[in-house]
Amino acid sequence: QTQLKADSKHPYPDWKAGSPVPYAALCQTFSLIEMTTKRLVIMEHCSLFLRQVMRLTPDDLLPTVLLMINKLAPDYAGIELGIGESLIMKAIGETTGRSLQVIKADQKEIGDLGLVAVKSRSTQPTMFKPKPLTVKGVHQGLMGIATVTGNGAQGRKVDGIKKLLSAADAHSTLKADITKDKGGPSEAKYIIRFLEGKLRLGLAEKTVLVSLAQAIVCHEADQKGKVPSTTDLENGESILKTVYSELPSYDAIIPAILQHGISKLRENCKLRPGVPLKPMLAKPTKAITEVLDRFEGQKFTCEYKYDGERAQIHYVAKDAPQELSSETAEAAKSVGDGVASIFSRNSEDLSKKYPDILAKLHTWVKDDTKSFVLDCETVAWDVSEKKVLPFQQLMTRKKKDVKVEDVKVKVCVFAFDLLYLNGAPVVERPLRERRELLHRSFAPIEGEFAFATCMDGQELDEIQVFLDESVKASCEGLMVKMLDGSESGYEPSKRSRNWLKVKKDYLAGVGDSLDLVVLGAYHGKGKRASVYGAFLLACYNPASDTYETVCNIGTGFSEQVLEELHAQLSQIVIDRPKPFYSHSSGNQHQPDVWFEPRYVWEVKTADLTLSPRYKAGCKEGVDPAGDKGISLRFPRFIKMRDDKKPDEATSSRQVADMYRKQESVTKNKGPSVDDDF
Ligand code: ATP
Repeated sequence: QTQLKADSKHPYPDWKAGSPVPYAALCQTFSLIEMTTKRLVIMEHCSLFLRQVMRLTPDDLLPTVLLMINKLAPDYAGIELGIGESLIMKAIGETTGRSLQVIKADQKEIGDLGLVAVKSRSTQPTMFKPKPLTVKGVHQGLMGIATVTGNGAQGRKVDGIKKLLSAADAHSTLKADITKDKGGPSEAKYIIRFLEGKLRLGLAEKTVLVSLAQAIVCHEADQKGKVPSTTDLENGESILKTVYSELPSYDAIIPAILQHGISKLRENCKLRPGVPLKPMLAKPTKAITEVLDRFEGQKFTCEYKYDGERAQIHYVAKDAPQELSSETAEAAKSVGDGVASIFSRNSEDLSKKYPDILAKLHTWVKDDTKSFVLDCETVAWDVSEKKVLPFQQLMTRKKKDVKVEDVKVKVCVFAFDLLYLNGAPVVERPLRERRELLHRSFAPIEGEFAFATCMDGQELDEIQVFLDESVKASCEGLMVKMLDGSESGYEPSKRSRNWLKVKKDYLAGVGDSLDLVVLGAYHGKGKRASVYGAFLLACYNPASDTYETVCNIGTGFSEQVLEELHAQLSQIVIDRPKPFYSHSSGNQHQPDVWFEPRYVWEVKTADLTLSPRYKAGCKEGVDPAGDKGISLRFPRFIKMRDDKKPDEATSSRQVADMYRKQESVTKNKGPSVDDDF
């Protein structure tokens, strides 16, 4: 607070009002952040810098924020750099005149390509000094690298990286000694780390969001010659968090902030068709009695928990009063009398996977339903038996470029929530009202579109019967949701205690499954000699941005799956573990090969135990001595979770909670939490 009151003259010399933000200035802030682990200090550096950007070069606020969160565009835009270590090493070698062999040897020794780039800094004299990098220029350069397609794309990506690297640090006035041990505040280091998808600053996306809110409030107060109060800061934070959860797109939010100010942000930035929001998630429960304890005295409703793929369907009719923004309209597909998009749980565009849904969509919509956002589950459907099929059937569908006429596995869409209707968000309305609107606005068609089966009975026996029926109908169990009052609103991106899941498996005492990232593998023996026979898995710790190992797994794989996994994983082998992998250093515990962190698998376990071999939850205080992590006993592979990215894997805190819950079954208490952070 005191620091925030201070005038935030940034020490970077070559940055004048109206001139582009020098990339070196951002890197200087990055290195200050890298030097500390204190969240408040990190936030202060971040918000002072953003405040400076707002004061001197507001036009660059958007690319600055994007580079801080290691993204080029909103998730739904589907822009991925997709660059592996080998391409980056090639670019470093070619820029600095060092051979690939030497770069590889350095990488083996140092283990951090960012630092390898710093070490390789070119000593060759250049005839013309390249222009200094700017934040906007780096963003554009990276965007160019990400969007290159067609013949020779790999080569052009390398060229793009070389261009950035040869301009990096050419004019650096940065003090290299301030973070000596971390390679100094080098531009090359942060460009490389951005390309790798991990800046490793300990700067969580949520911290940038809160810092941005602080920067805006302070900047607006600066302009009025005032000092913001704590309440102003808290209000700003709450407004920005709510707006971002409904409209997770800085491309939409930042121009609105600059134009209308923070106090009018909610009016100007609302949930809108075309921009997927992060879905609301549920907390696990171990028994129906736990559900009854949680909702004691409050009305709740039970729905079947369908076992398929989550889908958010966005639609705007041609004659709707509001329109899709130009960038989202481009991605949307024409359907009947309107345009529509389907997004996955992590905001990926599913339109190419489900053209059959898009083709039928308009026939389920009633005439006076002009625009909507639906939350649903797509489930494989047995046309002759007229019933739901297991999830495995859905997995056999192609993921891209599906043609309607080729679809073999039919799907039925089960809608369970309505988030937006006829030009206005409805997320804040109670679930009972949203459900009424949902039922009023759509017309179910057997085997194509249905409302999630629900039951509002409040008695234990009724719920037990409903649970049994759901299992007979090939569902995973029940979702139990708060029905009335403000707590029953839709909470985007939250794993909320107002939604509880009761899976049939929990009741058998097996517990919830975990979604884990594959970090390494062991060569198979005997019959499995040509494939990997076992794998090293990890959970994700968003606070430290690290992957913490949690088990080795070799059970639950068919021979065919092992072959597929070998083909897939051998493409992403790396020479040594990434610096953000947290695993026991004991020689006997090292896997034969390490992988880039890319794939997420669902795994079941008999129970959880403490082990010095793994690191999961080490920082969550589960082991008072602090050297044992949590590990899974008898883990079994269930399926690949293509709909989750590595940083959406089960978090260390969730693993720690599961471990503690196993020790003593506690009630579902505590506030809703952001799942991502
Ligand atoms: P898990 O990891 O347990 O498989 P998850 O992490 O994807 O699930 P959860 O919050 O645990 O998400 O469970 C909610 C999921 O269940 C939703 O993401 C959705 O895909 C699915 N689902 C099926 N039926 C319903 C329903 N009636 N209401 C809400 N979600 C439902």
